[in-house]
Amino acid sequence: MNIPEARNLLKSKSISPLELVEECEKNWKNQEYDLNAVITPMFERAKEIAKKAVFDESKPLSCIPYAVKDNICIKGEKLTCGSKILGAYKSLFESTATQRLTNAGAIAVCKTNMDEFAMGSSGEYSAFGPTRNPLDKKLVPGGSSSGSSAAVAAGYSIFSLGSDTGGSVRQPAAFCGLSAIRPTYGTVSRYGLVAFTSSIDQIGPMAKNSFDSLTILKAMRGLDEKDSTSVEWSPVELPEKPVIGIPKELFELDIDPEIMALLQECKKKLEGIGAKFIDVSIPNLKHSVATYQLITPSECSANLSRFDGVRYGLQVEDPELGKQYKKTRSDGFGAEVKRRILIGTYALSEGFYDAYYLQACKMRAKIASELYSALSKSDAILTPTTPTTAFEVDSIQDPLKMHACDLLTIPQGLAGIPAVTFPFGKDSKGRPIGMQFSGPAFSDDSLAVLASKVEEV
Ligand code: GLN
Repeated sequence: MNIPEARNLLKSKSISPLELVEECEKNWKNQEYDLNAVITPMFERAKEIAKKAVFDESKPLSCIPYAVKDNICIKGEKLTCGSKILGAYKSLFESTATQRLTNAGAIAVCKTNMDEFAMGSSGEYSAFGPTRNPLDKKLVPGGSSSGSSAAVAAGYSIFSLGSDTGGSVRQPAAFCGLSAIRPTYGTVSRYGLVAFTSSIDQIGPMAKNSFDSLTILKAMRGLDEKDSTSVEWSPVELPEKPVIGIPKELFELDIDPEIMALLQECKKKLEGIGAKFIDVSIPNLKHSVATYQLITPSECSANLSRFDGVRYGLQVEDPELGKQYKKTRSDGFGAEVKRRILIGTYALSEGFYDAYYLQACKMRAKIASELYSALSKSDAILTPTTPTTAFEVDSIQDPLKMHACDLLTIPQGLAGIPAVTFPFGKDSKGRPIGMQFSGPAFSDDSLAVLASKVEEV
């Protein structure tokens, strides 16, 4: 069920808010053994809220159940970030995003499984075990917002929240046949989102279609005095008949030919609704993964230093404080998180900073300026969301291969611009394919509307 369908049923009283939450709970009970999409179920609390709730048409998400990635704080609930190191930690804060969704009437039903600290592309890097794709259980659901995509695809909730640094809402949405938006940097408050890469992280909606994604985004974005990087929303409208750029470098990259064939289909559909196409160029697109894999480990090595066994969750005791830090972190963090902390610490260290971190910052600026330049010639850029469709659980062992999954979802975060992924057909094995629009800052709504038009045709 999508949001307007649920609203119609609630309005006509064909279903009560409580029954809607109970439906979600039933789907969770029936499938969770196979899917492992949830870390903390909140159905009991949700039912208490739903019992008292009355559908209010003036609220865009009135009585709509949703799932929340477990790196986003809900006051009084467990917060694990998919990691052992947070132990039994319960959040003392409510994130601005979830607070605003509550204000819009939505009801949180679960905290979802995720790659540890949002580092991963498959859901397999969670300390709580891998999540599986509800469309085909031998496949991964994508990551790092793995449980958030699985929860929507399996009907545990009508929509969900994820966080997107290098594609973590878009890639899992694409793997599960959903829509998702990575918002313009700063438009959704990061207050109450556990920091991975502060200069890139954004909370984004995941839903059945782009109309729903936009409804959710509108309810949670906007200036927040609790996040100094948050900005006032000021829309950029795309023309009725947009000029859309396709980067010519796409054709030199390692992208599944079936996905590239559907890109041409998508282009035709867009031409059918009046869009014009041009070639654009992002010469350094191929360096985006390497750039991202220096910037994000550098920032996360600093951000994750707060998990020291004193302030939060897990503490592996030792009479010597230094040893206690080491033991806690060694025991509490998983392999991928340790890898990134090591790389980041190295890249920031004296003597290596110039060679690694600073070079990556320069390349980030270069890639961003190439995107801005492409977007000065076109209104939006069309690419696939991912180089492959969903792959099998346990099929990628090499971390570098895992990192390569993010090739097409990294550049937007580096540049702070928005991107919308929408479902567009399937490959010959029946696995969903996502297409992606990227646009200038503040074009989020126009991109989502354009995606909705493609979904309609
Ligand atoms: N897959 C990417 C990574 O491993 C993206 C993660 C994210 O967007 N949070 O870093």
